[in-house]
This record gives sequence, structure tokens and C-alpha cells, in this order.
Amino acid sequence: MESCLFCKIVSGEVPARKVYEDDAVLAFHDINPVAPFHVLVVPKVHVCGAAEGPGGEVWGAVMEGAVRVAELLGVNREGFRLVVNSGEQAGQTIPHLHVHVLAGRRFNWPPG
Ligand code: C5P
Repeated sequence: MESCLFCKIVSGEVPARKVYEDDAVLAFHDINPVAPFHVLVVPKVHVCGAAEGPGGEVWGAVMEGAVRVAELLGVNREGFRLVVNSGEQAGQTIPHLHVHVLAGRRFNWPPG
């Protein structure tokens, strides 16, 4: 999708600090981290968000990518949090599906 920021990051038009990439997903450091480790995993195909019903193939790819990122960051044993914001009320600001991989500090429950 031409106007989508994360599609532009996927295509290389907008630079990002890549952490991991495979055929289906790209992972890069969040520009405004809220934890010592904060990486976004996005599908290479444009999907607006979770409410669109991305399907098992896309979900599988992004979630497997997220766990792979946790391994690469070396935080898979100490613990990490995966977050998907869906819709404005949940805090979604970029309309391209993304999983936040957060780690490196203790997280509260319930989230704010
Ligand atoms: O879940 P939400 O849509 O709010 O997450 C979008 C994320 O994209 C934010 O954490 C924001 O910091 C990040 N972002 C980024 N690079 C940009 C614009 C936004 O990493 N150029």
C-alpha cells in the first residue's frame, strides 16, 4: 500500500534498524522504545490490523517472527511481552499489523 509507513519500511523506502527478516516478515527497532528492547514485527503484505482477520498464515509468520526476535535479542529465557494493539481505543496508531516485542524490564499486569 503506497501511503503506508510500514509498507515503506518493508520496501526500504523508509530506513529502519532491522533485527530480523524472512520471506514473510520484517522486524525492526521501534523508533520510540518503551522498554530496553522494543522491536516491531510486521508482515510484508499489507494488513491493516488484527480486526481485519489476517488469517493463520500471516499470524503464524508474525508470531514465529516475534519469538525468533526474542531469541536473537537473547531475552527468550528471562521473559518478554508480545503486544498487538487493535484499533484506536487500544492504542493502534499505525494501520499495518504489527507485534510489539518488549523486553529488558519487568512489566505490570493489567497493562495501562
Ligand atoms: O501499536 P501502535 O500502532 O501504537 O504502534 C506503532 C509503533 O510504531 C509505535 O511504538 C511507534 O513508536 C512506532 N513507530 C516506529 N517508526 C515510525 C513510526 C512509528 O517505530 N517511523
